[in-house]
Parts: sequence; structure tokens; C-alpha cells
Amino acid sequence: AAPVAMVSGMSSMSRNHIIVKSGTTLEKLSRTLTFAFDKTGTLTENQLVIEDVVPASDSNLSKQELQSLAASVEQQSSHIIATSLVNGTDKKDLQTVDNLQEVTGKGVSGTINGSEVKVGKLNFVAPDHNKINVDSTAIYISIDGKFAGYITFQDQIRENTPETISRLRRQGIKQIMMLTGDHKTVADKVAKEAGIKESEVHADLLPAQKIQEIKDVKSDLRPVAMVGDGVNDAPSLMAADVGIAMGAKGATAASESADAVIMVNDISKVNDAVAISKHTMKVAH
Ligand code: ADP
Ligand code: MG
Repeated sequence: AAPVAMVSGMSSMSRNHIIVKSGTTLEKLSRTLTFAFDKTGTLTENQLVIEDVVPASDSNLSKQELQSLAASVEQQSSHIIATSLVNGTDKKDLQTVDNLQEVTGKGVSGTINGSEVKVGKLNFVAPDHNKINVDSTAIYISIDGKFAGYITFQDQIRENTPETISRLRRQGIKQIMMLTGDHKTVADKVAKEAGIKESEVHADLLPAQKIQEIKDVKSDLRPVAMVGDGVNDAPSLMAADVGIAMGAKGATAASESADAVIMVNDISKVNDAVAISKHTMKVAH
């Protein structure tokens, strides 16, 4: 394509707060027919609201004590669940933690007053515990391997997500998928509100499984775009032909692995990116 048109397309992107790292990205985006979206923090708000704190009945913990333990272990994590929990917790309740470890897509662990506190998916914190039915986004907590309770969050869809999805379809995007590590009940609810088909919802995925989903649709030789926000999304952004990181936090791992970065907290910029890429390629030929 004509270099002048490409340069002009990329500067048009940047005027719209979208940084495109190469002309190839712009060209691929103009041909993309499949979009995959991360759920938490991408289709939904980038801040979750704490809904309920539920100590296990045999734990002798108050709600405040359980929240304090969980938030303390989450202090260093950049996962949206972690930042939302820490922001929603009184600073004076944050305790010192040793041996902090994060397992991507599963949760975090650390030592508080000599006990190992784990926070994250139930099968990560207490693998032998019976399944717990919650309808919300939730994290589970264990102390020295014993289930200690859970915390639920409201994961609200962004106000302009439904309009963004319907506009993508009008822009000629044939397939729109959701890839999430969250459980199916929450995923289906958000998908329904967003206008994404239930058959296109892939829930309970580990980071490696998100990559596999992208590779599966890519085998058609059609470019696939993936939109994500978090550190956990970096591998799937790299697996896509066009990885798009969203969020104002400039230099996160997600932006480094992305082909394009939306510098503002606004999902509708995806529509602008598609429109500018198509316009650029039309002018370039
Ligand atoms: P999503 O695709 O919804 O962004 P992730 O793959 O980032 O989800 O995480 C999947 C799940 O793993 C989360 O819903 C949560 O249950 C758990 N998880 C991952 N990291 C953390 C963390 N730092 N603290 C608590 N839970 C976590
Ligand atoms: Mg996410």
C-alpha cells in the first residue's frame, strides 16, 4: 500500500488516542472479520464493586477480618479483582505479607502471621472443597489449605459496550467472541447484555486455553483481533493477528504485547480503529 496513506492512517489513529505499532497491523485490521474480547475490565468496567464478604461458617472470622486477609495478599497484584478489592478496603486493614506468589489465571498466595493465605479460584485455594454456587464474579480464600470464605463482586458492563458490539457488526465484523477466565453464569449474563451470542462465549478458560481458542479461529487464515486489558491477557494478545490493549495505564504488560494500544478507557475506540483502518486501505489502493 502507498506509504503516505499508511502514515496518514496511523496519525489519524493517534489523533483518536489509538497507537498502532505498524502499517501491517493497520492492513490486517482492515481485513479482520473476527473479534475476540476479554470480559473483565474490557467489556465490563475496569473497576469491580465489592458486593458481599462471606466468611465460612466454621472459620470464626468476621467479614472485616476475611476482607483484610484477602486484600493484604492482593496488594501487589495488578489483576482487576485485586485492585478493586484493595481500593475497596480501608488502608489500616492492609497487613504485611511474606512469600507473595501469583499464579496467572488462578490467584495469589502469601504468608500472614505464619499462616499461608490463598486467594483466587476455588480449585486453586481449596481443591478438595465442594463446589459453591454463586452467580457473581467471586474469589475464594483459604488459610493453611482450609476454606475460609469468599468475596463476590459486581462486574458491570460498560455503558457503551452494546453499542460498540452492534456497530462492529454493522462495520462488517462477522464473528464476535468472548474469552474469559470467569465462570459461565457471569459470562453468559454479560454476553447477553453486550449482544454476543451464547455459542460465542468461552468461559472458565486458563490463559493457555485463551490462546488455543484464538489459534482455532485463526486456522481459517482470516486475521483475528483480540481486545484485552490485563496482564493476564498479554499471551492472547500476542497470539492474535491484531492484539489490541485497552486502558490508560500506558506501559502494562498487555500494551507491550499488543499491536495497537487504546490509550483511553473507552471501548468504542475499537469502532474508530476499524473505521480508520478500512478508510486507510481504501485510500491506499
Ligand atoms: P478474565 O478473563 O475474566 O479477565 P483471568 O484469566 O484474568 O480472567 O482470571 C480468571 C480468574 O482467575 C478470575 O476470575 C479469578 O477467579 C482468578 N484470578 C486470577 N488472578 C487473580 C488474583 N490476582 N486474585 C484473585 N483471583 C484471581
Ligand atoms: Mg481481564
